[in-house]
Amino acid sequence: MSANIIDGKAIAQKIRDQVATDVAAMQLEHGITPGLATVLVGEDTASATYVRMKRKACEETGIRSIAHEPSADITQAELETLVRSLNDDPAVNGILVQLPLPDHINTNRIIDLIAPEKDVDGFGVTNMGLLSMKGRDPNFVACTPSGVMVLLEEIGAQVSGADAVVLGRSNIVGIPVAMLLQRANATVTIAHSRTKDLASHLKKADIVVAAVGRAEMVTGEMLKPGAVVIDVGINRKDDPTRKRGYRLVGDVEYDSAAEVAGWITPVPGGVGPMTIAMLMRNTLHAAQMMLRD
Ligand code: NDP
Repeated sequence: MSANIIDGKAIAQKIRDQVATDVAAMQLEHGITPGLATVLVGEDTASATYVRMKRKACEETGIRSIAHEPSADITQAELETLVRSLNDDPAVNGILVQLPLPDHINTNRIIDLIAPEKDVDGFGVTNMGLLSMKGRDPNFVACTPSGVMVLLEEIGAQVSGADAVVLGRSNIVGIPVAMLLQRANATVTIAHSRTKDLASHLKKADIVVAAVGRAEMVTGEMLKPGAVVIDVGINRKDDPTRKRGYRLVGDVEYDSAAEVAGWITPVPGGVGPMTIAMLMRNTLHAAQMMLRD
């Protein structure tokens, strides 16, 4: 068997195009441009790259991007004041505080301070709590997890009644993905570093979402034939044939998994592009919510 490839790049582009259309319509009908405030603390290169990509996506979709770049020695109180001012600013619909924050900052306090109706990353305690409650709906769901669900939707995966295994239980990927899958009526197993006999769980899974950060730990022989495999992991693997000396691989060994799976996401080009597309969609949604209020 050779798996169908899930083209996250194309699906993400479709979402970004739709956001751009809806933003233009909002400007025309209501004279409102959605605004996303990005807060980048310090000069971490990876964080700066992510924020630059997010701001570029704003530009391409017509969303106003408002950049704040305090230095790494900003105090907790100063950062809290900044977040409060963004909460109060009507031109700001979404607030994104790029993680990780410097060690002297209490990250949870900052994240929880973001108004739930502007928490476009969906990491705050209110939105995470609402996501885990039956009969309640969060304002926003974290971007990578909601991107995973869009990929499943796009390929017409049967989620209801499916056995799903989520590898990893982080607050930003594993846990919210598991919550979303169970809300879509899958039966979910959350595996983590203490899970015994991971292979036996994977062998029964119709859907596997891997979000661990360990290069190619899931191999084809661990999978159920025909399974849908969503690989969130992004890992560097030495590759002397590449100019930069490495290439990016997922948590799934692509070649062997593609022999067994029914559907699979590549790395890169699978889940990765979905994260920013969902951030744009969440920011538009924030502006739409404000219009309704
Ligand atoms: P974390 O390091 O926060 O969490 C990793 C999880 O994997 C933990 O729950 C850990 O278990 C679990 N784990 C570790 N070792 C094993 C093992 N041997 N077997 C099973 N589970 C294990 O990572 P993140 O959730 O932040 O990210 C996961 C991956 O996804 C990374 O590669 C990251 O780069 C990528 N990522 C990709 C994004 C994208 O846009 N595509 C966005 C965000 C992340 P325990 O809880 O027991 O420690």
